[in-house]
Amino acid sequence: MAKRNPYFHNYEENYLFPEIARKKQELLQEQPDAKLISLGIGDTTEPIPKVILDGIRKKVDELGTVEGYTGYGSEQGEAELRELIASKLYQGRVEADEIFISDGSKPDIGRMQVLFGSQASIALQDPTYPVYKATAVGLGQKVVAMPCTQENGFFPDLDATERTDVLYFCSPNNPTGAIPSRDQLQQLVDFATANRSIIVFDSAYAGFIRDDALPKTIFEIEGARSVALETGSFSKLVGFTGVRLGWTVVPRELLFEDGSVYEDWKRVNNTFFNGACNIAQAGGIAALSDEGLAAGRTLTDFYLENARILKDALTKLGHDPLGGDHVPYLWTPFAGASSWEMFDRMLRERHLVTTPGAGFGPCGEGYLRFSAFGHRADIEEAASRLLESGVVA
Ligand code: PLP
Repeated sequence: MAKRNPYFHNYEENYLFPEIARKKQELLQEQPDAKLISLGIGDTTEPIPKVILDGIRKKVDELGTVEGYTGYGSEQGEAELRELIASKLYQGRVEADEIFISDGSKPDIGRMQVLFGSQASIALQDPTYPVYKATAVGLGQKVVAMPCTQENGFFPDLDATERTDVLYFCSPNNPTGAIPSRDQLQQLVDFATANRSIIVFDSAYAGFIRDDALPKTIFEIEGARSVALETGSFSKLVGFTGVRLGWTVVPRELLFEDGSVYEDWKRVNNTFFNGACNIAQAGGIAALSDEGLAAGRTLTDFYLENARILKDALTKLGHDPLGGDHVPYLWTPFAGASSWEMFDRMLRERHLVTTPGAGFGPCGEGYLRFSAFGHRADIEEAASRLLESGVVA
């Protein structure tokens, strides 16, 4: 009889989101009229801007004509889209042919594990976006934690970090909302250079940064092209969580001890992927027109305003929520309560669904993540429920 991939035995029960769903169900059985508001999942809620839909519609119509029909495209993605990403999002810091268009950042992160292989050791921020670890476990990679706490400003103590082949780094960070300074990212690049490690930089939320002093890409940092690759996404930028479009930048200078990362990533894409959806790519091209960029800005501003509304309410209650200024998440410490206790209280007393910080790693204990993705009326209602209920924890 066939045997399972042996590493799949290492998967722990996926506890976080099933447990949240179970608790929600339990509450709705007890209180069927409860109007729950979700501040839990990081999924967009607002419509895709018209200028982007126009680009998508045009492509759909073209596919219905003999002249406009296209079949399989380039595995690396349409040249026009790659050129726009290079010029509009990276200001020419990377070349169009170093960009690989994909069906999103998460699938790219999964394919990256194939790029690195089972023998690779990886370091992850704790707390962390869970997908890096989940994809590593299935390949049996060795995983090392880099604690990121309020005490170290959510930037790992690199002197205390064991050398690994790969370092995953997410900025703006999901879940903590932290954005390292240029100096800190320089330290990270220098650390990777000294250790001959590769940085996987996840900039899925870069479109929310509103301060030019904060780095939007690792490629703003000197030396990064020799040690880092970067994955980005249209998901949160223009509401493409369902449309599916992302990219990964792999500089040609990035090397393994025994080969080119660029050439191997090309092989992974040609072998495990067949190119992003041409309709989605047309949407990406429209999103990077001047009008599209302005519409994306309005959309991300909307979620940042949601974050401000929630942050104000929590602050008025005497809490000190972190994040929210350049990222659509609030990372809120609740002294004296575990994150599951606080989750239960938010759910039972205010009918608000949040995410317990402990679900993102041991250093997330004591925190709740509030997502700012939501319709304005729901966010305002959530803020008034917080305020009406008085001081929490
Ligand atoms: N990276 C981070 C940090 C995320 O939070 C998410 C989605 O929530 C992703 C990547 C996945 O993005 P995509 O929708 O492009 O797969």
